Amino acid sequence: MTDPIHITCPVCQAKNRIPAARLAANPTCGACKAPLFPDTPFELTEAKLNKHLKNDEVPLLVDFWAPWCGPCRMMAPAFAEASKQMSPNVRFAKLDTEQNQAVGSRFQIRGIPLIILFDKGREIARQPGAMDARSIVGWVGQHLKG
Ligand code: ZN
Repeated sequence: MTDPIHITCPVCQAKNRIPAARLAANPTCGACKAPLFPDTPFELTEAKLNKHLKNDEVPLLVDFWAPWCGPCRMMAPAFAEASKQMSPNVRFAKLDTEQNQAVGSRFQIRGIPLIILFDKGREIARQPGAMDARSIVGWVGQHLKG
């Protein structure tokens, strides 16, 4: 990781610079004061995702889901639990594929739920299907090692 680390605010998408040593100290956005590492996964639109992919230097795990998808809704608590366990090393976000239909073809999504792990704007790995919290944490850890 670089130091300071660039990270996009999950609320206002301002670009923040945080010294690496302060990442675990619950830093807040310089522009809107929102926590940069919220307790629960934050909602993205495609436009917001673009800003995160452009600026973030902390890995981002995105849950591509939709309100009509039963397995997606069932997985939500596990995703939130995994988010708590992995903060601040990874940030967790959710993207509603029904409201952001262009992401389906852009990321070649064939089925949801689908999680995609991004680091410095690039896709590192993806995993389709509902997972429990332990599996999510294990899967992310495995892909961030390399
Ligand atoms: Zn902000």
